[in-house]
Amino acid sequence: MTIRRLLRCGLVTCCLLAHCLAAADSEPVAGKKPLTEMPSVITVPLAAQPSDHFDPEAATNAYLAEIPAAARARSDAYFEGGYWFMLWDFLYGVVVALLLLNLRWSAKMRDLAEHITRFKPLQTMAYWVQYLLLTSILIFPLTVYEEYFRERKYGLATQTFAPWFLDQLKGLAIGSVFGLIALPILFGIVRRLPRTWWIWGAVVMMAFQILFVLIAPVYLVPIFNKVTPLKDPKITQPILSMARANGISVHDVYQIDASKQTTRMSANVSGFGHTMRITLNDNLLKRGSPEEIQAVMGHEMGHYILYHVYTFLMFLLIVVVAGFALLRWALEWSLKRWGEKWQIRGIGDTAVLPLVVLLGTIFFFLLTPVMNSAIRIQEYQADMYGVNASRQPDGMAQAAIHLGEYRKMSPGKWEEWIFYDHPSGRSRIYRAMQWKAENLQLFKEAVSK
Ligand SMILES: [Zn+2]
Repeated sequence: MTIRRLLRCGLVTCCLLAHCLAAADSEPVAGKKPLTEMPSVITVPLAAQPSDHFDPEAATNAYLAEIPAAARARSDAYFEGGYWFMLWDFLYGVVVALLLLNLRWSAKMRDLAEHITRFKPLQTMAYWVQYLLLTSILIFPLTVYEEYFRERKYGLATQTFAPWFLDQLKGLAIGSVFGLIALPILFGIVRRLPRTWWIWGAVVMMAFQILFVLIAPVYLVPIFNKVTPLKDPKITQPILSMARANGISVHDVYQIDASKQTTRMSANVSGFGHTMRITLNDNLLKRGSPEEIQAVMGHEMGHYILYHVYTFLMFLLIVVVAGFALLRWALEWSLKRWGEKWQIRGIGDTAVLPLVVLLGTIFFFLLTPVMNSAIRIQEYQADMYGVNASRQPDGMAQAAIHLGEYRKMSPGKWEEWIFYDHPSGRSRIYRAMQWKAENLQLFKEAVSK
């Protein structure tokens, strides 16, 4: 996983995302609009308008019917292709790790590191630099296809190759700094505490995870993008009013120039403690309707007020401790069998790193549905908080449709359970319409005024 992708999702809880090809105007230019782009629903479909016989199911279907067949086919293809890439990424990672071990490249990198310096922490650092460079080069063909060519093919990327590649290098630099600090500490623990290293290792891992979340919005995101406090009064007025109503201070709302890299609309809650903030991206601000922006903003406020960053970290703590316990057992088991062949002297030997990465890759691959479901449950909670805070069920439906540009709208039940880290577009629209059905008086009053 690249650092950019880590910043885009993972712990920096990512949210209602959708894609935008249009320019600053919300008015689509006739003839220029690609067939595959999701519609901006200007008027609420008839079946979703308030009436005495309002039916959430019919309203949901009316919204879904606004999506042109070509747009739906393209988004389904993009998203279903992503399922396969989960598998290819996994297998590719496994092959790279096995190459490093079986060809004894890992042992050779360790030997070179030991040749350079006699000081253990510096040896670990020298090994890490070689490891990171070698694996980045080996994985590059897959990365460039998946994150550059494929994103361009589906009209989601806005960068040409050079700036994209520069972003990759920046990500690599950040990854190398984190490794240079974390690995000597982790290997130091393993060497000094041979029995309890897995507990302390998990604690240090979590401390680094929290540090990462803490500094990401303030120091890491600005390496890639410009982040500024939200200013445009047309947009800020209703948002700030909603923020006040939910006890969120004005300084916690920012915008980011994500259109530099992507056409996707997005917003997120990131940070930890005093760096925690809500960020809306410029694609959303340019293309979203005011109702839609308010619905998305309500959703983000949900994450913020419900302390989702903290509860997710608590969940992650359990996963990491369980992971380290399994790791300890699996490392001993594999080294007993193949340690000599791979020329790895033991768990405290830096040459063991590809094996650790291999086991971690298998662990998280098997855990995919669990991780997705943990995030999806938070996203569902944020959706419900958002519709209550914003009272914009139609804005929420519109956001779900825009999001459908790169997420399949109507998956099967198991498909959603395994692959979706957000509720599907269809369930989001349905829940919004169910909320609307139970709060129809709000909309009838608006009509009679
Ligand atoms: Zn969210």
